[in-house]
Amino acid sequence: MKCAIVAVGTELLFGHTVNTDAVYLSQQLNLMGIDVLYHYTVGDNPKRLADILKMAMKDCDLVITTGGTGPTQDDLTKEVICQVMDDVLVEDPHSLDRIIKHFERRQRPMSENNLKQAMMPSKAVVFDNNNGTAPGFALECEGKIVICLPGPPNELNPMFEESAKPWLMERSSEALYYRTIHTFGIGESMLETKLLPLIDGQTDPTLATYAKMGEATVRIASKRPTLEEARSAVEDMIAKVYDYVGEYIYSTEDESLPQVVGQKLISKNLTMSTAESCTGGMIAAAMTDISGISAVFERGIVTYSNGAKMDELGVLEETLAQYGAVSPQTAEEMVRGLKAKTGSRVCVSVTGIAGPGGGTPEKPVGLIYVGVMLDDRMEVFELRTNNTKRQWNRNYTMLFALYQVNRFIDEMTE
Ligand code: ATP
Repeated sequence: MKCAIVAVGTELLFGHTVNTDAVYLSQQLNLMGIDVLYHYTVGDNPKRLADILKMAMKDCDLVITTGGTGPTQDDLTKEVICQVMDDVLVEDPHSLDRIIKHFERRQRPMSENNLKQAMMPSKAVVFDNNNGTAPGFALECEGKIVICLPGPPNELNPMFEESAKPWLMERSSEALYYRTIHTFGIGESMLETKLLPLIDGQTDPTLATYAKMGEATVRIASKRPTLEEARSAVEDMIAKVYDYVGEYIYSTEDESLPQVVGQKLISKNLTMSTAESCTGGMIAAAMTDISGISAVFERGIVTYSNGAKMDELGVLEETLAQYGAVSPQTAEEMVRGLKAKTGSRVCVSVTGIAGPGGGTPEKPVGLIYVGVMLDDRMEVFELRTNNTKRQWNRNYTMLFALYQVNRFIDEMTE
């Protein structure tokens, strides 16, 4: 199915409102396997809206409009859809009843204008609005479908989820199944290159790679006559992806790295503490985001200054003087000091130069050392990100540290 999204509202053209409805709908439709070919934005002008609807319907069998369903004079979306789809507005008693009750519940007077919101195209399937007054609808005519949704996201999103999506799914003769594989430690372009033998010439399942803050994901999707066939095609493809890039994969279940690590710590009852310098507590924050982590997460210390590294972790003054705070020696003393202090089975230390300032030719921005201990095994990792963006470096380091913790856990525990 090919779709166009038509956002209606002059405030969108003025730049007063950001068109988040189109973003939301595109994401949802994409997940359903519906191809979105166009995003149109048009003001509250019936002639231009009619032109856009006709144009969109040339290429697309589904057009979704957002906005312009309110009670005021300039809300004309329904009227224009009727004109283009050869239908007429009639009073919908069910919607009228809901609108009257909506105002009664709030003990607010209803204006005559609100009655207009109960006027629906005669051949439409009406979608209730559980968060406002304007109902939505789907209207079919000669193989074309128009779905009309209200503009406010808090009304549109639930209406799409509860009504429009199931209605569309019923019409689909194919089932879509997809999985998202998460990787770390490989850039998106390298990931794509390694997967080219699988991507090239592949029409189903499809593979698409995406990048986000140092992580790269692969979405594998299949559209088949039955869900079982689609699922099995995707699972076969996941096994092939493992053959090519298995070492970088940390989840095939669409979980974040902190979630994966947090769940393993909890299920294996592994206690954890962190001592962070340049990440300033980001690892601790990511871990404490996980529900139930209090069973195992013991302590997160931010040891930013040299003094804090000595006081809290017992890093030696000579080590700092001889090698500097950003050095493998300091990272090692930090992680060993943390282990001595807390006794946690998993300990992590971070020290580095997040930037954008503070770099030297020997120690450039993006030079970061991460110490990881699980029981007696200790490793210090050197990162050279070649990136001067502070937030990127900090986030990447957080993920890197957790990736190594994940690896230690996998390699050392059952
Ligand atoms: P209402 O029944 O509340 O009048 P409506 O369907 O007529 O809703 P509009 O009047 O076009 O929608 O817009 C109402 C509000 O919804 C806007 O002020 C804006 O806050 C939000 N909105 C409208 N369109 C969009 C959009 N495309 N993306 C995000 N928000 C939107």
